[in-house]
Amino acid sequence: MNILESIRSNAATNPDRLAFVQNTPTQTSTLSWQELEAHSNRLAARLLQITEDTTPVIVYGHKDPLMITSFVACAKSGRAYCPVDVSVPQGRLQDIVREVCPKVVVAVEGLPDIDCGDAVVLAKDDLRVIVSAEADDPIDLTPHWVGPDDVYYIIFTSGSTGKPKGVQITRDCLDNFIRWGLSLCANAQDEPLVFVNQAPFSFDLSVMDLYLALASGGTEFALSKGLLESMSALFERLRASNATVWVSTPSFVEMCLADPSFTADLLPHMRTFLFCGETLTNRTAERLMSAFPQAEVYNTYGPTESTVAVTGVLVTPEVSSAYVPLPIGVPKPGTAIHVVDEQGNDVETGTKGEIVIVGDSVSVGYFHDPERTQASFSLRDMDGRQMRSYRTGDEGYVRDGMLFYSGRIDLQIKMHGYRIELEDIEANIAALPGVIRVAVLPVRKPDGTVRSLTAFLVMDAPAASFSRQDVKGLRAQLASSLPSYMIPKRLRIVDDLPVTNNGKVDRKKLAEL
Ligand code: AMP
Repeated sequence: MNILESIRSNAATNPDRLAFVQNTPTQTSTLSWQELEAHSNRLAARLLQITEDTTPVIVYGHKDPLMITSFVACAKSGRAYCPVDVSVPQGRLQDIVREVCPKVVVAVEGLPDIDCGDAVVLAKDDLRVIVSAEADDPIDLTPHWVGPDDVYYIIFTSGSTGKPKGVQITRDCLDNFIRWGLSLCANAQDEPLVFVNQAPFSFDLSVMDLYLALASGGTEFALSKGLLESMSALFERLRASNATVWVSTPSFVEMCLADPSFTADLLPHMRTFLFCGETLTNRTAERLMSAFPQAEVYNTYGPTESTVAVTGVLVTPEVSSAYVPLPIGVPKPGTAIHVVDEQGNDVETGTKGEIVIVGDSVSVGYFHDPERTQASFSLRDMDGRQMRSYRTGDEGYVRDGMLFYSGRIDLQIKMHGYRIELEDIEANIAALPGVIRVAVLPVRKPDGTVRSLTAFLVMDAPAASFSRQDVKGLRAQLASSLPSYMIPKRLRIVDDLPVTNNGKVDRKKLAEL
């Protein structure tokens, strides 16, 4: 079944079940499966009435039921949607609109002052009227649905040139990802899966919770921006969530784990934790396993360009004691991973190289950007078939049949002639007792060369309780795992690491501390 068929069938089977719950600090709004189906049909019909032109639609807003309705409506009317969260700055939103040249902009929240060209803008009030107006003669939308090779969504990610890149994901890519993703989610006695959503919809991690919820006929339990700012309000909502699957960045769950009440008592139905997007440390995985003894913890890996995640591993206490850092796992069915040298040739097992992803969930390339598409995407043989492949810019190696991530090629620096991977240092610092989170930053001279390194550490006790002597002790312990040139000159203990809107460590902000 493709995703649109699953949605239709889930709505028919459990019309009154909640498909989506929006949690803000002050209110909860819901969307039942029946509403999702009916509302998205009405909006899809309206989109077809506005124009038959299938240029992608920009959907702007936050975690509102109308966002989900709009995503599904776009797909049912044969066009890709491009989700833009309210946290995206105005200038960037304008860049995206300029790039897409949409015929329709769906503004679930008020748009900042930008030029939408000749696009029809549907504001929240318009949407409310459209989704609630029953048509006398509803049309059959199936002939309009996005096809298997059509682009289903476009997520804009930051480009190294400063211009965002629109990653185009087809319906087949999404369906292939969903099939694997669902296989990771433990299902207790046919109860519906309830997914905790942390990431904004403009970040592809949200595809994991949203589409696994929609495909399984479960519920997406979305945590709004405002709610994420107050742990006590957040925990109150979580307690009432009946959540069974957790999807977030490791940074976010570490913030939750800082509160001792983040345990199975708070979330007694929790069965699966799915992480992606940044390094999951052994310590975080171990703390989770002990706080949620009945739940499974997965470390998954992948860039937006390969539809959320393409490798995964179940982290058990045995895995965590055998491997530091943790593996990122084995490829999902339909995916092959190559680790290649600078010439693009496969390296030997155990040797580090660039991770190349080949398979059935690799994007068809960047929207309207053949140059950058050509630079990163190509065709590669996989089991005798030519499949799309993507050069990730990530460095990794294979050990014991599993893939390990060792850092971004672009987070590799040269200092005093040594080639150093900042994430390698971070992994070693993270393994020290008491360290919860760490980020290592290069300190550069005005000419750009690296002068020294600073490590920012979050410990399991307030920063103010650490003395110089304690810091010296940490440094001494590091000497047993790192060569001296890799030990940061400064170790700064802080209470928090700043995170980006996507929930990853914000290295730019950190540099300003
Ligand atoms: P994004 O496209 O925003 O999802 O970011 C993808 C990048 O996040 C990857 O290319 C990796 O650099 C990083 N990443 C994703 N998953 C993991 C993981 N499990 N461990 C470490 N880094 C990860």
